[in-house]
Amino acid sequence: MTLARRSISIVAPCYNEAEGLAAFHAALSAALATTPYAAEIIYVDDGSTDATPQALAELRARDARVKTLALSRNFGHQAALLAGMDAAQGDAVVTLDSDLQHPPELIPELLRAWERGAEIVYTIRRETADATLFKRLASRLFYWLLSRASATPIIPGAADFRLMSRAAADSFCALRETHRFNRGLVSWLGFRTAAVEFDAPARFAGESKYSLARMLRFAAHGLVSFSVWPLRATMLLGFGMAGFAALYIVYALFAFFALRWTVPGWTSTLVTVLLIGGVQLLSLGIVGEYVGKIYEEVKGRPPYVIRERHGFDDNPGNSRGAGQRAAGGSSAAGTRNRSA
Ligand code: UDP
Ligand code: MG
Repeated sequence: MTLARRSISIVAPCYNEAEGLAAFHAALSAALATTPYAAEIIYVDDGSTDATPQALAELRARDARVKTLALSRNFGHQAALLAGMDAAQGDAVVTLDSDLQHPPELIPELLRAWERGAEIVYTIRRETADATLFKRLASRLFYWLLSRASATPIIPGAADFRLMSRAAADSFCALRETHRFNRGLVSWLGFRTAAVEFDAPARFAGESKYSLARMLRFAAHGLVSFSVWPLRATMLLGFGMAGFAALYIVYALFAFFALRWTVPGWTSTLVTVLLIGGVQLLSLGIVGEYVGKIYEEVKGRPPYVIRERHGFDDNPGNSRGAGQRAAGGSSAAGTRNRSA
């Protein structure tokens, strides 16, 4: 065979996933065995504080397809995904969570959609087995708000489980926003897309890293990154208040001159002052949220920092973009020919 076999990359971020990694890897390997592609499997250790590094070293020793990146600290799910995608070399890149909530059995289906010509294959979560009613409702509300507020359509329930062709992955990695909302960025990219639905099972081991506070931060970030609607709403609110104030002034003058009805008006003054004060603070807060984002982006810090890389054949010609590739890591042993 003269033509090199097409290869795919799997990117899975792990943050304190030691307990479930072996099971995840087994399921992933089983799914990959049913596909005709050579694969590289990139695990990104997002600053885990448990035995995840050891678990990854074990996988690496057992399976030559495994490559690992260790970030210097916890940079968050979205940054970890980007780190893995930056390092991926395959003709298609599949990203999925390493807690078995994104069933690896679906990968062959994603690949088939890619073979049929899709450049980005989304997955849409129908149900999440262990999500609380609150998490479900909050997620619905958030996507509803976001789809109204943003010009970029963002599919409700779209998970960070997706396949991107080489071209789509390259364009994705070229977007260097420090604080990322990957699902929004992916929709923004365009490309020919296809969608695959799935039911997310309960977590295999460990617990969700998205606490309520973290979810809210993520949601606020998604809204602010993809919509100026909150700023506009602030302005509308301002107009509303100004209109109300104008009417009230007319009424007050009328009361003073015509009705001669000059009650000390302490209550109305207080109410107006408080109301206007509240609206001003709210507006300031919204503006502050955007200014903060600008400040963060303007500093131009890389989205993540890598401490160690293992298993990569370090060919500088392959290096893509500036995710901040720190030196270190034993990569000399990783030279392999991925094309059969
Ligand atoms: N994750 C990560 N960094 C983080 C938080 C999570 O790399 O700071 C990984 C985690 O290991 C998992 C995936 O991102 O593979 C999704 O996280 P989680 O399962 O906690 O989120 P949920 O499924 O509850 O939304
Ligand atoms: Mg999960």
